[in-house]
Amino acid sequence: MKNDVIIIGGGAAGLCAAVALKQKNPALSVRLLEALPRVGKKLAATGNGRCNITNKNITKERYHGRNTYFALYALSRYSGKQTEDFFHSVGVDFIFEDDKGYPASLQAASVVDCLRFAAEELGVILCTETRVTNIQLSGRLFKVIAGNLNFLTENIIIAAGLLSGGEKLGNDGQMLTLLKKAGFNTVKTYPAIVQLKTDPEIVRQLKGIKVNANVSLKSCGKLLRREYGEVLFCDYGLSGPPILQVSGTAAKNQNPVISLDLMPDKSLDALTKELQDRISILSARSTDEFFTGMMNKRLGQVIIKSAGYKLNTSVGSLDNNAPKKIAALIKGFSFNVTGNTGFINSQVTSGGLSTEQFDPKTMMCRDYKGLYAIGEILDIDGDCGGFNLQWAWSSALCAADAITKNNV
Ligand SMILES: Cc1cc2nc3c(=O)[nH]c(=O)nc-3n(C[C@H](O)[C@H](O)[C@H](O)COP(=O)(O)OP(=O)(O)OC[C@H]3O[C@@H](n4cnc5c(N)ncnc54)[C@H](O)[C@@H]3O)c2cc1C
Repeated sequence: MKNDVIIIGGGAAGLCAAVALKQKNPALSVRLLEALPRVGKKLAATGNGRCNITNKNITKERYHGRNTYFALYALSRYSGKQTEDFFHSVGVDFIFEDDKGYPASLQAASVVDCLRFAAEELGVILCTETRVTNIQLSGRLFKVIAGNLNFLTENIIIAAGLLSGGEKLGNDGQMLTLLKKAGFNTVKTYPAIVQLKTDPEIVRQLKGIKVNANVSLKSCGKLLRREYGEVLFCDYGLSGPPILQVSGTAAKNQNPVISLDLMPDKSLDALTKELQDRISILSARSTDEFFTGMMNKRLGQVIIKSAGYKLNTSVGSLDNNAPKKIAALIKGFSFNVTGNTGFINSQVTSGGLSTEQFDPKTMMCRDYKGLYAIGEILDIDGDCGGFNLQWAWSSALCAADAITKNNV
């Protein structure tokens, strides 16, 4: 069976490429091979079922990898209006909440449905439960092997994703292993957009509490990244949007430390003075209740204890250093990061196929003409906020454009 294009992986990038190819050139024979019984399983789980499909502020700073410049052409050429127009053509309209774009239905499953309907209407051959196990060169063609099945094709698009979300969403990382064995350069993979594990002693006492904080990620005293938002204390460590946002960088650096500024609007000096005043006003109260009315009570008690003071004594008995010590803790409540909750809980994988092997304008491999890679399998990962799906769409539209131009 000879095909013009075979796409490996029916996720976000693969479905987008399949539809775009047939829209641009209906005469192309396009076959999509998907390991799972259904296409788009991970896409259907995105954005807590709402699918944060894009972001209005696509900038280089939002992307990570050995060479983030690689992603810039595709992101600038095929994001914004191009992505919106593409989705409009399959029946998905966008709405925006601040910078974040969603399908107007607020249903991730509807995005999968519209892509699948369009693929079927346009004549893409969708083969589910077809896990590709090998790719070989056969003269000028590629031979794609999926168990007992063999397919010949002129062009191949690898859109097999990576390990985020775990095997239940279709990925065991085997495609990257296969390509590595075939001689492709790869960059070590890490879970990103994932909860962080810390020493459990303190966080366990704070389980379930949410606070707005400035989150600084440091390694060996150096500030690596800063984010603001709601942090959630869990029995294993820390979660919440700013933690997920810095997690990929934490995984790549030695001895990472998360420092929370629990009162970012106040300077250290102003807070010290405020605590001095509070101590004199509330001197008759028990230290257990010192922070009651100023911050979460349980958090306040842990801060008092962590600063080295006893609970159940009077506020008036706190020594002269207390305001400074407690203020310093509030401005820099620090946790050694001991790990993360793994690929299964991560939204994206950092690392993957090394980008220098591919042309950033076409996504085509420099060594194998006709072989393309798109989406998460490449060493590009984005922040939380629609950036990863945008990379899937942009890289897919880029490859589809290149293939149709090469096959007119
Ligand atoms: C829970 C969760 C929530 C997320 N929410 C968002 C969000 O709101 N916004 C956002 O921008 N990003 C989000 N992401 C990230 C986003 O889903 C991914 O970046 C995106 O799906 C990557 O697209 P892809 O097509 O490259 O890979 P995938 O979507 O993973 O698709 C790859 C497909 O290839 C198939 N496959 C793998 N190996 C083979 C093989 N050997 N043969 C055949 N088929 C194979 C897999 O089964 C899979 O269907 C989320 C991720 C998760 C896990």
